Amino acid sequence: MQKPKRKDAAPSAAVKVRDGAAVRPRPRPRRPHALYTPAEVEEIFRRFAVQRPEPKGELEHVNAFTLLVAVVLSAQATDAGVNKATQALFKAADTPQKMVALGEEAVGEMIRTIGLWRAKAKNVIALSQALLRDHGGAVPDDREALVKLPGVGRKTANVVLNMAFGQPTMAVDTHIFRIGNRLGLAPGKTPEQVEAGLVRIIPQKYMRHAHHWLILHGRYVCKARKPECPRCVIADICKAAEKTTDIPAPLVEIAPVPDAVAEDVG
Ligand code: SF4
Repeated sequence: MQKPKRKDAAPSAAVKVRDGAAVRPRPRPRRPHALYTPAEVEEIFRRFAVQRPEPKGELEHVNAFTLLVAVVLSAQATDAGVNKATQALFKAADTPQKMVALGEEAVGEMIRTIGLWRAKAKNVIALSQALLRDHGGAVPDDREALVKLPGVGRKTANVVLNMAFGQPTMAVDTHIFRIGNRLGLAPGKTPEQVEAGLVRIIPQKYMRHAHHWLILHGRYVCKARKPECPRCVIADICKAAEKTTDIPAPLVEIAPVPDAVAEDVG
């Protein structure tokens, strides 16, 4: 038979008393169990680094400002499509001053081939004005300031911080979101969760290029509909349920893919 508890018995160690009432501690949020050991993560990125020692984003730009504009234009558009439109645009305006002088109508005309061009032309002018007004015409190198600019979200800010300022950020696009979840490298329901998971596990020395490696791996090998596992250099390490082979593809340096065949789904 269970002993009745004494009324004055002290609460168990896990229970705290606040204002005379017992308060049970909230369970601590648990980190998801890591599927990959640090050595495996290191090896994945070592191989990506061998494949593409200096990966480049495929959006053409000539300075931090034109990069920012190109990334804003690339939402729901292909990099190749954006590059076609920005060739003339950046010749005419490669600074916020010149962009404002060009005006919304002319910008709209030049980017008509890109989806959502009206809203994007408006944002490009508004963000150029904001750069002139608040930052002396320069692109700020901190996320908080970047996300205040019209048309700039966390992902765009992360791309700019990474590519223009060399900061170890992780801009989670559709490819990185898929890879984080499919491989179980950084599972998450939102891009922010995947971003946090990847930033936590990727060794610092690989963070500068990790964003590009993952995008390119997702775009050309670990594709959305059907991953091309026999062409994958990490097939032996990958723990994705969908993988079709354990034999990794030969590890060789890959030549950059020309824009004409670059494909993105943003
Ligand atoms: S083995 Fe297949 S599923 Fe795993 S990363 Fe490579 S392509 Fe993707």
